Amino acid sequence: MTKDEFKKLGYELVDFVAEYRERLETLPVQAPAEPGQIKALFAKSPPQKPEGFGGIQEELRALEPGLTGWQSPNFYAWFPSNAPLHSVLADLVVTGWGNTGITWLASPALTEVEEVMTDWMRQMLGLSEAFQGVIHDTASTATFVAMLCARERSTDLSFERGGLQAEPKPLVVYASAQSHSSVPKGVLLAGFGRENLRFVELDESFDMRADALEAAIAADIAAGKQPSAVIVAIGTTGTTAFDPLEAIGPIARKYGLWVHVDAAMAGSAMILPEMRHLWAGVEGADSICLNPHKWLGVGFDCTLYYVRDPELLIRVMSTNPSYLQSAADGRIKNYKDWGIQLGRRFRALKLWFALKAEGVEGLQARLRRDLENARWLEAEIRQTPGWRLLSPVRLQTLCFRHEPEGMSPEQISGHNKAWVERLNSSGKAMLTSAMLGGGWMARVSVGTLHQEREHVAELWRLMQEEAGRA
Ligand code: PLP
Repeated sequence: MTKDEFKKLGYELVDFVAEYRERLETLPVQAPAEPGQIKALFAKSPPQKPEGFGGIQEELRALEPGLTGWQSPNFYAWFPSNAPLHSVLADLVVTGWGNTGITWLASPALTEVEEVMTDWMRQMLGLSEAFQGVIHDTASTATFVAMLCARERSTDLSFERGGLQAEPKPLVVYASAQSHSSVPKGVLLAGFGRENLRFVELDESFDMRADALEAAIAADIAAGKQPSAVIVAIGTTGTTAFDPLEAIGPIARKYGLWVHVDAAMAGSAMILPEMRHLWAGVEGADSICLNPHKWLGVGFDCTLYYVRDPELLIRVMSTNPSYLQSAADGRIKNYKDWGIQLGRRFRALKLWFALKAEGVEGLQARLRRDLENARWLEAEIRQTPGWRLLSPVRLQTLCFRHEPEGMSPEQISGHNKAWVERLNSSGKAMLTSAMLGGGWMARVSVGTLHQEREHVAELWRLMQEEAGRA
């Protein structure tokens, strides 16, 4: 592609994206594609000769049935994954620059903008200077990295010797039974073993019980095991439950456990000083992860990972072949030593663009709008007979059931799964059905960029209409 071709097609595709965003509200939210429908649009083998981009817009539009309306104001499924247009432009510039940040020298700007952005975000989250940050692709990676560091701290760097296999005592990790699937995945991949992952008892709000954690730790020690880490959920995926970090911290310190905070979704709320009570005690954490690529409004992917002890992280993660050394080493950060990957994308530019476009106050105002919209819906559900909230609404996610009179618990479960599916299939809005306490529930996660009260009110009308068809 020549520069002139790039400019022509580039302007065309910017228009194309803008026009897609304009049409979003009229498109089905749940992708209507049948399995295999999109694959069938492609030839079995790759083109041998250049095809060029004539007709590309039509070809891209043909993929639309396979696109889910994550950016639609009628999207309430899973979690908001906001991709503002400024992130689109940041990604364009980043790929345009084409810098692969394998070391500081490989892209000083990439490294240093990441340093500045992780520090700006630290300040916005109200974290002390004891924490230093790095950007990972996803929370799953960050949690895995935390587990590797916990393992190595508990074993005084066993990886330098015989590894976990040579350790005298099995190491144990504790987490909420409501923790995200990336938590057991990270624990298992880090080699702890399923037998050494404890799901600690929860209270009626689905928060981890600190007394149950301590009892589990004591039982493991009595059984000859070594407690190693606790993963604290600050906003579980299912119901946005908050494990009591303030009570867990002293227990963890007493027994020498690593405290990893998984605030993937709810962490964004901590830019609001009035919400920080939800992670009181966070200063006692060893590591924290949160995803600006969710509610905050930085296009996927962008996970912040903060640690109190970068030296340990670097000790566990660093490699130093001669071809990656430079005269600047010792005076700069090499983020290759702060995680698993060597090459890194210039993700920090998206954070910078987000702050340029909205400022801290703009981001705060949008999150506050979403919290108010969630509270409005909560009040509607509470005061409407036949509807029941199943967990406290701490942020912008609501878990509830429609419970028509005379139905058995099994029938209620099936009814809720069915009406959510019908509503999603209509394309008018999209929410999630999930299991809670052995039955299906409906789950609404408020917070896409252009979602105003009128959208949430329309969702409530659609839900009542669809559930009322039982
Ligand atoms: N942790 C929590 C609490 C989440 O809600 C999610 C995503 O939904 C994750 C972890 C995983 O996030 P990622 O896709 O960034 O790995």
